[in-house]
Amino acid sequence: MDFSTRIVLIVLSIAYVNLVSIKATMADASSNQFAGKLRQSKNAVPCNFDSLTVRAKLRYDPEAIGLASTDYGHIVRDIPFAVLYPTSSDDITELIKFSNKCPLPFNVSARGYGHSVRGQDMSHNGIVVNMLSLNEQYKNATGIRVSTAGHYADVGGEQLWIDVLNATLQHGLAPVSWTDYLYLTVGGTLSNAGISGQTFLHGPQISNVLEMDVITGKGDFMTCSKDKNSELFFAVLGGLGQFGIINRARIVLAKAPKRVKWVKMLYYDFSIFTRDQEHLISINGLDYLEGELMMDYTPIDDWRSPFFTPYNESQISSLLKKHGILYCIEMVKYYDDETANLVDKEVQRLQVGLNYIPGFSFTRDETYVDFLNRVRQGELTLRSKGLWDVPHPWLNLFVPKSRIMDFNAGVIVDILHREKKTKGPLLFYPTTKTKWDDRMSAVTPDEDIFYILGLLHSGNFSNWQDLDNQNNEVLEFCDRAGIKLKQYLPHYKSKEDWIKQFGSKWNTFQRRKAQFDPRMILSPGQKIFNSV
Ligand SMILES: Cc1cc2nc3c(=O)[nH]c(=O)nc-3n(C[C@H](O)[C@H](O)[C@H](O)COP(=O)(O)OP(=O)(O)OC[C@H]3O[C@@H](n4cnc5c(N)ncnc54)[C@H](O)[C@@H]3O)c2cc1C
Repeated sequence: MDFSTRIVLIVLSIAYVNLVSIKATMADASSNQFAGKLRQSKNAVPCNFDSLTVRAKLRYDPEAIGLASTDYGHIVRDIPFAVLYPTSSDDITELIKFSNKCPLPFNVSARGYGHSVRGQDMSHNGIVVNMLSLNEQYKNATGIRVSTAGHYADVGGEQLWIDVLNATLQHGLAPVSWTDYLYLTVGGTLSNAGISGQTFLHGPQISNVLEMDVITGKGDFMTCSKDKNSELFFAVLGGLGQFGIINRARIVLAKAPKRVKWVKMLYYDFSIFTRDQEHLISINGLDYLEGELMMDYTPIDDWRSPFFTPYNESQISSLLKKHGILYCIEMVKYYDDETANLVDKEVQRLQVGLNYIPGFSFTRDETYVDFLNRVRQGELTLRSKGLWDVPHPWLNLFVPKSRIMDFNAGVIVDILHREKKTKGPLLFYPTTKTKWDDRMSAVTPDEDIFYILGLLHSGNFSNWQDLDNQNNEVLEFCDRAGIKLKQYLPHYKSKEDWIKQFGSKWNTFQRRKAQFDPRMILSPGQKIFNSV
């Protein structure tokens, strides 16, 4: 394809994505017109596709290309050559094997729900596998098979966690480790870690997988576990999609509670806040712990999960005017019919010795499902206001506990609060390294306890760079101060940064890449082995 054709295609695809609201009137006309041009672009992949059986499931139309070249971040846009809509794992196996046979292999990227924020699931000039299309072979969610005897569920990599929850609850069971938001795919979160307020207790989602079926970068379909093909098993967990495509994961289940007591407590003193958070993750009985930062220039309730009554909000607002920053602990105790009459006493026991601001502890009672699915309502509200599909220059960090006071002074007070730029939830809570198996690809700081910081910015198309500059300022401060943090959902611009991120795991990561994806076909959007 010549350069000018390519530019035209890029512009048209971008325009297509941005004009989804008028898609109904324009799509028919445009798809015929552009599909022809995109098909001409086959030369971009130097392979003869005639012998590829699965070629009928490749799509080149602007709708497929537009979707695969954007994500939740709305920052990166990489145009693939085509998108595979598989209906079985064999389709993916064939595609990857085919790429391996090409003189110059093309890249293949699995796309879950596209909730990456930096193009991690894109494939510039390569092929994106739309994993959600696999669902079509599993009508009525039979892509989730529950074993009540084994207390596990066999789940397709393309399945959403919300569907896993609904299917397992029918048997009175549920996974033990979650993400805050459930409209993420199993394959997508297992490629990262899958973290939330249960991580301190059960480990991340990658610590709760018993077995997987994986299609490697060579196109081999392999079953793996701690005991069988263990190198592949540990490589894939937190492996950023580099080693294989997760076709099935066997997820640990436990008896599901019915309801939760959901408590938020406020602090103005950072050292007391962190001391209490660390105390809570060290004692028995708690089911969930998170925390957030409240600033005097941001709304008290963030969009994710409205919690406070208007009266509470006005109380908190006066307190914020006085202190500028408040720190909020969020903890949860699960219960069911048998424990309903004990749960309030249990919450009181958990609060013994905590030093939150007197009068600033707030409790809600929710069903377990509503609690787990708490972010969905916020999503729907943002969507209705046109505020969901906006740029999200997120920064997620793991910060070692030993430097948390320096981090508060240098980042929370001196950058975030002083600059008053952040827009969106600011999550901040500790978790424990012992629950992460060090053989997995996922990386954490070298300390038993580390903090999770989520700067979940929502920007607009003209100011996101400003927020991203602030992210860089945070990273530069930590670098200068010698705070040895790790990024979660990482994105880097140089090989050196990736080597630093993986630290002592880098050699293993490279060796595993050579073993399972020697032609470096998979997940180019992570920009680890492919040029940046
Ligand atoms: C609103 C929101 C809230 C979030 N909350 C949390 C949270 O609480 N905790 C948390 O840990 N994360 C959270 N995330 C981040 C989320 O885990 C990542 O976005 C992750 O990428 C999952 O999204 P996805 O399923 O859409 O995967 P994608 O973004 O499509 O893919 C992510 C990566 O995994 C690869 N991949 C996808 N499917 C597979 C597969 N089957 N096999 C192998 N590789 C695959 C892709 O190639 C890509 O490299 C949140 C994201 C959003 C947008």
